[in-house]
Amino acid sequence: MPLQDLPPLREVIARHGLSASKALGQNFLLDEQLLDRIARVPGRLEGRRAYEVGPGPGGLTRALLRAGADVVAVERDRRCLPALAEVNEASGGRLRVIEGDALAVDEAAEAGVGAHIVANLPYNVGTPLLVRWLGGEAWPPFWASLTLMFQLEVAERIAARPGSAAYGRLAVLAQWRSEAKLAMKVHRSAFVPPPKVMSAVVHIVPKAAPEGVRPATLEALTAAAFGQRRKMLRQSLKSLHGALEALEHVGIDAQRRAETLSVDEFVAVAREMGRQSSPSGEE
Ligand code: SAM
Repeated sequence: MPLQDLPPLREVIARHGLSASKALGQNFLLDEQLLDRIARVPGRLEGRRAYEVGPGPGGLTRALLRAGADVVAVERDRRCLPALAEVNEASGGRLRVIEGDALAVDEAAEAGVGAHIVANLPYNVGTPLLVRWLGGEAWPPFWASLTLMFQLEVAERIAARPGSAAYGRLAVLAQWRSEAKLAMKVHRSAFVPPPKVMSAVVHIVPKAAPEGVRPATLEALTAAAFGQRRKMLRQSLKSLHGALEALEHVGIDAQRRAETLSVDEFVAVAREMGRQSSPSGEE
């Protein structure tokens, strides 16, 4: 049976008894047009590999397969496996499902270098996975792009610009060596069952990493700065070794507050901190 002849998702959910589990963050998307729009966010997928977390009954999976991708998917809920086996058969074997917890998967090995990560993420694992995908020491990462559904509030924090209330650690983490944008908002009524809040898809593409900056230094800097976001940097950074000296060295006024610093300014401070802590002045 070809992909387009698979039964509607509602029927699949009923036939396999896939009542939504709150504990597993299950809010399913059933609208094929919407799913096709999400699958278009990463760009051309023909002949490319997609890595999906939480395929559930397989709506987004089908859209990725329709777009021509080969899909590796990791799903924790065993009840979904028979429905996904049908999708695999209809795709001519282009879907491989790993049963288990996405947090325990070695994605680089399973999905391979150059994979596009696309997922309607379970909310409880979404942020830890994002932090892992964005926070690695090695850059560029194994993934070519991230197309991820989050609660709107989280999506806004990822794509936030300086000066806004949403701007903080997540924005700096997402933007210092990637382009991050909010690709589309998704109304709560699109999900079954509908969650309490609105959602949005973010699209993140890696770019060249600034030289001489260690992710751990930038992370410590933003944690201290935004940990007391209402305070001046002079106060919030005073117990972070080398931070105030670095601030002065790069010419940033210590009376400013964290939310006024651009991502580039955070990068400059972190680079200077790294320089100071290296005795030879090398990075
Ligand atoms: N992709 C489907 C869709 O768009 O309709 C389902 C999305 S639903 C929001 C989240 C999915 O992630 C569920 O199928 C759930 O069982 C699965 N899931 C939850 N926690 C997981 C984990 N730790 N590892 C892998 N899958 C998980």
